[in-house]
Amino acid sequence: MQTLQQLVQAFRLYAVCEPCQRVKCVDLPALIEHEGGDYPIDRVRMRLKCTECGQRSQALRIVYVGPEGRNAGFRYSRAPQDPTPDLL
Ligand SMILES: [Zn+2]
Repeated sequence: MQTLQQLVQAFRLYAVCEPCQRVKCVDLPALIEHEGGDYPIDRVRMRLKCTECGQRSQALRIVYVGPEGRNAGFRYSRAPQDPTPDLL
């Protein structure tokens, strides 16, 4: 089972709401701080809830960004990157 710690090394996690086509980048470093690195991705999925329509979509996109993405991900001051529409 994949955990947050494994993902944060080289992946970005996007939550997808299919009814309203929203895509939101999950803040993995913040999530690890709250839940710990052993927190399973499946449990993140179960907790997803769209802030617009209130649907529990449980849709996650896991995008490989490479090991160098780790540094960017841990830079808290940096604004969250909006995913491009291509990811849908
Ligand atoms: Zn929605």
